[in-house]
Formats: sequence, structure tokens, C-alpha cells
Amino acid sequence: MPRLLAAIALLSLCGGAVGLLSAQQGGPRQVSLVVTGGTVVTVDGTHRVIPRGAVAVDGAEIVAVDAADAIGRQFKGSETIDATGQIVMPGLVNTHTHAPMVLYRGLADDLPLMEWLNKYIFPAEAKTVSPEFVRAGTRLAALEMIESGTTTFADMYYFEEEVAKETRTAGLRAVLGQTIIQFPVADAKTPADGLARADAFIKAFKDDPLITPAVAPHAMYTLDGPTLKAARDLSRLHNVPTLIHLAETIDETKVAQERSSTSPTMYLDSLGFWGPGVLAAHGIWVSKDDIAILHQRGVGVSHNPESNMKLSSGTAPVTAYLRAGVSLGLGTDGAASNNDLDMFEAMRVASFLQKLQTFDPRAVGAATAVDMATMGGARALGMERHIGSLERGKRADLIIVDMSSARQTPMYDPLSALVYTTRGSDVRTTIVNGKVLMRDRQVLTLDRAAVLAEARGWVEKVRAAVK
Ligand SMILES: [Zn+2]
Repeated sequence: MPRLLAAIALLSLCGGAVGLLSAQQGGPRQVSLVVTGGTVVTVDGTHRVIPRGAVAVDGAEIVAVDAADAIGRQFKGSETIDATGQIVMPGLVNTHTHAPMVLYRGLADDLPLMEWLNKYIFPAEAKTVSPEFVRAGTRLAALEMIESGTTTFADMYYFEEEVAKETRTAGLRAVLGQTIIQFPVADAKTPADGLARADAFIKAFKDDPLITPAVAPHAMYTLDGPTLKAARDLSRLHNVPTLIHLAETIDETKVAQERSSTSPTMYLDSLGFWGPGVLAAHGIWVSKDDIAILHQRGVGVSHNPESNMKLSSGTAPVTAYLRAGVSLGLGTDGAASNNDLDMFEAMRVASFLQKLQTFDPRAVGAATAVDMATMGGARALGMERHIGSLERGKRADLIIVDMSSARQTPMYDPLSALVYTTRGSDVRTTIVNGKVLMRDRQVLTLDRAAVLAEARGWVEKVRAAVK
């Protein structure tokens, strides 16, 4: 007995020894999934990169991120994925797109914005957008996003309940905004119809684990003041996000000048529009004062460099936004103006464009670009407590990126490799909410051949619509 008491006393003095003893007695904790052996880029508060790291996932949640040996001692996965030689990172957050528009990819390029919209996009949408079109487009967009490492996207389109159902089936996470616009569109004859639709959509998807319903008033130049206010009131009533295009073109600034002798940002501020939970896409034509207002009101901004370049819209003042402390995410915009949903390309172009614009090669370095595509996007969408980094307690949204191509060899710095040489097609495995959506390039939630065949089936109908 005295020997036992002495042993207990000794153990109680050495917490570490007790921990070791209990781990040995109970064995490692059983969890659903362990991803091990890869370079783990956490994007956590200290920007920790773990050379031979591992992530333990249980159900939908990350339970530990550590060195592979430490995770191996503490956890045993029902499934284990060996990520040796690869990078494990948070899934990418695309803060602005119109997913079904992938069906208009390459329909009309190299045109000025108004001609592109009025001669091609709006007529094509008037004749082809339907629940069936939206479902086929969302499936194709979801396939492309899963294959290129996007795990969360923010969307603004029509028949958003169809986008939601297809997104849920594909297994992606999304903030989905039902569009409100002044003129008659496929799913609403009037803005009031659009608002009623948004209300029903929010009620139907409010508590979904993957879908965050939202209200998407299109822009200040396509809506009058009372409708902008009504759209914002609806999102406040339900406590859901608001998505809007802001200051995308110089023409929009002229509309704001004519309407209220001020900028688009200040006009919307005068309506009481801004606040936390609002995401403004583009934000190109903004003054210092506009940026200060967006920061003060807690608005998130989505930067879409490829779309802005392709449509010659202008260059968003990314460096100024970051300096001001605005939550800034990256987006691709719809595929009709990009023409793909590859967020790796968006990172690289965001970095290059800002360097060119500011004549400063230090602008938007690799670490900043990765941050914008992950935590920055999560913050801009108000989801930073749940996604955007690999940390204990967050949702298990992560991707595994192959680093073995000639293009990526040799690798001195994982962040440099991710931004300057990696492409979406280098992503091997995509996991959302703890569920593997793609393993070793095999998408598990969608029938790839059927999705592609269905999309090709729309070509003649779309072509006929713009003849
Ligand atoms: Zn857009």
C-alpha cells in the first residue's frame, strides 16, 4: 500500500507522466479521419506551417492540427489519407460568383461591358435561365470548384433554391444570395416578387449545415432606393448576409453622381445599407473616404482581379483596403467574365495585378494572397469562426495539393509554390465538413461524365438565344 500511495503521489506531481500513462492505457482516440505526412499550411493566427504535419478530423470538425508523430500518438482515424510530399491547406473561399453562368463560358468574349451585357448576357439569360438551367449550371460549377480546391463559395443568381439543392448534393459549403433586380427576370416579374422569393428561400434553408441563405440586391445602378432598403431590411429581419455588386465600373459612379451627387459607396451609406454581414463585390471605384466608410461599417469586400481585367473595369485598390483593415476576400466572378473558377489563378493574378498597379513588387505577396483566398474570404463573409484556417474546433474544410509536377519543382517555400506555380488541377483531394468530396482526383459526389454531357447539351439552346 505505501508503495502504491507513493506511486500515486509521484504521478500527481508529474502531469505529463499521467497524460502519457492514460494515453497508453486508453490508446489513441478514435476519430473519423486523419490526414497525415504533408506540409500543413494552417493560415492560423501565427501562420504556422508544419513541415511533416497532420490534421485529425472527427465528424465535421477539426479536432487537432500538429506534427504527424504527435497526431499519430493521440489519434487513430477510421480513414487515413497519406499526404506525404503534398500540401494540406484550408479549402479556398470564393467570395463572388454566379455559379450557373458556367453555361455561358466563352459565349461572348472581348467586348465592352455594356455591349457584352446587353447583347449577350441579358438576352441569353432572358431566354435560357430556368430551374433546369440553374441546376445543370450549378452541377458543372460545383464539379469545377471541387476539382480546383474551392470548398466555400458566395453566389448571386436566380432560382437560388435550385443552386442550394445542387450545392448540398455536391457537398460544398456556400452563401447563396437570391438576386433582387429592378427589371423583370426569369424568376421574378418585379422586385417585390424577388423579395418574396428571397424570403421563402431564407426560411427553407435557414438552418442548413452547408447552406447560408442570403439576399442579393444586384447593385445600386440596377435598383432604386426603396428596393435597396427593402432588400437590406429583409436580410436584417432574418439575420442573414447581404451580397451586392459595388463600384464595379466608372459608369456606376456616374449613376450615383446623377442620383445623389455622391459615390456609390456614399449613396448606399445614406440609405443605411452598410453594416456587418454585407459583402460588396469589386469595390474598384472607391475613394479613401469610401474605404474608411466600408471599414467603419464592417463591410466585407470581394476582389475579382481576373473579371476586372477581362472586362477592363479597373483595378481595385487592394493595398489600400488591406492597410485600412477591411476584410478582403478573393473571387472569380461568373465564368462568363473570367472564364473559369480556379482560385489558384485568382491568387496569382491578384498578386501580379497589384504589383503592376502600385509599381511595388512587395504588394500582395504570396502569404497575403493565400490569406485572402482563405481567412480573408472567411472574414469577408462573416464565417471566420468556422472556416478559413486549419485550427481545432473549426469545420473540416481542407484540400490536399500535389507538389510533384515539374512546374512546382524544386520547392523552397510552400506559400510561394501555392501562389506562383500551382494550378487548380494540382488539387488531389477536397474535403468539406469532414466529408471527402474528391479523393485522388476522383469526384465522389457528382457523376462527372453526366455533368459534362448535360452542360454540352445546353450549347445549341444558348447559341440560339443570342442569334
Ligand atoms: Zn458579379
